[in-house]
Amino acid sequence: ESRLLEVEDLHVEFRSKDGTANVLNGVSYHVDAGETLAVLGESGSGKSVTAQTVMGILDTPPGFVTGGSIRYRGEEMLTAGEERRRELRGENMAMIFQDALSALNPVFTVGFQIAEQFRFRRGMSRKDAMAKAAEMLDMVKIPNAKQRVKEFPHQFSGGMRQRVMIAMSLALDPDLLIADEPTTALDVTVQAQIMDLLDELRRERGMGLILITHDLGVVAEVADRISVMYAGRVVEKADAHSLYKQPGHPYTEGLMESIPRLDMKGHELASIQGLPPTLTNIPPGCPFHPRCHRAEDACREKVPEFHDLGLGRASACHFAEELISRD
Ligand code: SF4
Ligand code: MG
Repeated sequence: ESRLLEVEDLHVEFRSKDGTANVLNGVSYHVDAGETLAVLGESGSGKSVTAQTVMGILDTPPGFVTGGSIRYRGEEMLTAGEERRRELRGENMAMIFQDALSALNPVFTVGFQIAEQFRFRRGMSRKDAMAKAAEMLDMVKIPNAKQRVKEFPHQFSGGMRQRVMIAMSLALDPDLLIADEPTTALDVTVQAQIMDLLDELRRERGMGLILITHDLGVVAEVADRISVMYAGRVVEKADAHSLYKQPGHPYTEGLMESIPRLDMKGHELASIQGLPPTLTNIPPGCPFHPRCHRAEDACREKVPEFHDLGLGRASACHFAEELISRD
């Protein structure tokens, strides 16, 4: 079985005294072993909430799963007990975040923090666990790993710290890694190096990799498939090549126009006008219509269905077929 993860029609609400926010409104995506899925969208589109729900780390309250399914290797996660979820975290699925500094404990050496997993989950001695931690730092290409394992998080640069996080997440050899904006805090050159590293580790280990990002440019080289999210829904999914060649949804088009280009240095970036909707009050019809330059009357009334465009490609826009058949 190569299907690692299948998220189907996932619904999540956030409840507070101010009302109910429909944060996920039927998210579906899947990841197979050895492939990279990029989940793309602006902040607030539900990318991170989906990932947290997959990992079993959604804060409840305020977040409540109200429907859908998450299957890891066929096993339903939403009904698995907390003990089973904890067992799977680290061993089978792991997640890294944008801010490596706050994810690491400042008072312990990075080696100690990586070694903890080998000690407590593999029963290794402190000495063997530290040696394994150094191996992990070497695996993520931190030079001079045997020395650096004894250093504290603040002694590492942002990029090196993200490598430490990657090493820590892979210590127990998971086959699914979710990286939530792993390079957003880094400068462009370092971003590319981290992406290359993740891509290489994915290939060597046959892992499934989910890259969550708001920046299509960052994942351009490494994504096999892309799912674009808006207002808690997947609005377009496609293989990366087709999507870059011809986006099938106006929102994806907008995201593509906002990719910084080296040849356009100094030019104002075209970004999508307006703001994502408030999730307590999602507009009727197509949730993107207030911001869409193609919107017509039908868009204000009718929620667009997912149009199957063939070859695993689909778009939730009334005009999806027209969009992909443009010259
Ligand atoms: Fe724009 Fe209409 Fe397509 Fe929605 S359905 S993305 S409003 S054209
Ligand atoms: Mg996020």
